[in-house]
Amino acid sequence: IAAVKKGRPVALVLSRPRDLIHEVCQKLLLSDQQLRRMMVAMEKSMEKGLDRETASTAAVRMLPSYVCAVPNGTERGGFLALDLGGTNFRVLLIRLKEKEAEMTGKIFRVPENIMRGTGEALFDHIADCMAKFMQEHDLKDAQKLPLGFTFSFPCAQEGLTKGKLINWTKGFNASGVEGADVVTLLREACQRRRDIDIDVVALLNDTVGTLMACAFVENSCQIGVIVGTGTNACYMERFDRISKISDYVDEEGLVPEEMIINTEWGAFGDDGAMDFIRTEWDDVVDRQSINPGKQVFEKMISGMYMGEITRVVLEDLARQKLLFGGNFEAISRPHCFPTKYVSEIENELLEDEDRTFQKTFQILEDIGIETVSSNDCVNVAYVCSLGFRAAHLTAAGIAVLLNRMGKPFVTVGLDGSVYRFHPTYPKLLDEKIEQLVNKGLQYQLMLSEDGSGRGAALVAAVATRLKLEKLV
Ligand code: BGC
Ligand code: MG
Repeated sequence: IAAVKKGRPVALVLSRPRDLIHEVCQKLLLSDQQLRRMMVAMEKSMEKGLDRETASTAAVRMLPSYVCAVPNGTERGGFLALDLGGTNFRVLLIRLKEKEAEMTGKIFRVPENIMRGTGEALFDHIADCMAKFMQEHDLKDAQKLPLGFTFSFPCAQEGLTKGKLINWTKGFNASGVEGADVVTLLREACQRRRDIDIDVVALLNDTVGTLMACAFVENSCQIGVIVGTGTNACYMERFDRISKISDYVDEEGLVPEEMIINTEWGAFGDDGAMDFIRTEWDDVVDRQSINPGKQVFEKMISGMYMGEITRVVLEDLARQKLLFGGNFEAISRPHCFPTKYVSEIENELLEDEDRTFQKTFQILEDIGIETVSSNDCVNVAYVCSLGFRAAHLTAAGIAVLLNRMGKPFVTVGLDGSVYRFHPTYPKLLDEKIEQLVNKGLQYQLMLSEDGSGRGAALVAAVATRLKLEKLV
C-alpha cells in the first residue's frame, strides 16, 4: 500500500490487487456505531424541522401533509390520480371497492427537455396527457371525478389542496415552479386548453401515497418509504410534537391527534451532518449532479445515483491500476454504469455457481473496456456488492422513525425500483433495522403495490368521505 501511495512500481501492487481493493473500499463499510451516530444526528435534524423556532433552516424539512387519518376500508368510488415524480408521468382511473382498488392507467414519458424546460410547458404536457387519457376512456363528459395529485417533490403544504414546491430534486429543473403552488399551475394548464375539467381534492407526496395504500390493506401501516429514483419517508407523528403548526385546526375547529409528516430525509446531510461518513466518491457524484450540495442522503442511497457511485469507485480503482490493467478511459464516462448493472452483476454473483461471470463480462465489454480479466469481474462484483451501504443507511433512517414513534407494532410500507429490483436490498434492509431498532418494538416491512397511484385515490377518497360525513 505504501508503494501505491508513493507511486512505486506497479508490478508489486498488482500481485495482491484484491486485498488492496478491499482496503481502498473500506470507507464504504459502515459500522453499527457509525450508523447509530448517524441516527442521533438524523433525529436531531428531524426535531429541528418540526420546531417552530428552527424549522426554516432545517435540512430535513419535516413537511406536514394535512393527512390525519388512514383509510378505514369503507372508501368507495371512482377517482382520477396523477403521478409525477420519476422518469414517467402516469394518469390513472381508480375504482375503490371492498378492500380492492381497480385501476386502469397510462404511462407517459416526460422527455428531458420538458423536465428542464419551462414550468408552463411541463404542466401543459401533464394536461395534454390527461386529456388524451380522458378521451380514450370516455371520461370527458362524465361528471368531474375527484382527483388526487401525487407530486413527488418537497412541497410546503398549507392544506390538503395547496402546496408550494420548495425545490426540485432528482432530474427535474423546470423554471418558474419553485415557490409556486403546483395545484394552481395544474388548474391553469387545464383552463388554458378548455377541454378538461378537474376537481383536485388532494395533493400528496409519493411516500404518503405509499403509506395510505399499504394502510388500506394493513391498518398497522404508519410509515411509508420510497427507495427508487429518489428516496424519502413519511410517518404518523403526534400532533403535539409538530410545534411549527401548533395553531392548526381542521375545518371543524378540531385539533388532530396525529398527522402524517413527509420527512424529506433525502436532504439529510445538506448541512454537513453526514460528512463523517461521506467519501470522496460521494463528493464526485454530488459535484457532477444538477443540484450540487443538495439531497446528500438521497445521493448515497437512491437509484438515480447508485450506479454512478459504483462507476466512480471503479474509475478510481482503474486509475490506481487495480482494475482492467489500468485501462480507465471507458469507465470514466459519466453515467455509463446505470444502477440496473449493479443489480444484474449482483444477481449473477448470487446465481452463477460456476463463476463464469458471463453477464459481468458482457456489461464491461458493452461499456467499452477491452482488457477485462476474470479477476476484474470478481472485483467489480465486490464493488457492486458494496451497494449494501444504501440498505444500511435506509435501515438507520427507518429505525429512527420506529424508535421515535415507540409504537409496539408498526408496518412499514415500501416501494420504489431499488426496493423492488435490487436482489439483496430488501433482505439487508430488514436485517439491519432489526439490529438498530429499540428492544421491545416490533415491525414488518411490506411492499406497497403502486402507492403513488392507489395512494392518491385513497387520500382523495378519505378527504371525500370526511367531507360527506360532515354533510350528513
Ligand atoms: C423527493 C421526495 C420524494 C422522493 C421519492 C425525492 O427526491 O424530494 O419528495 O418522495 O424523491 O420519490
Ligand atoms: Mg413513483
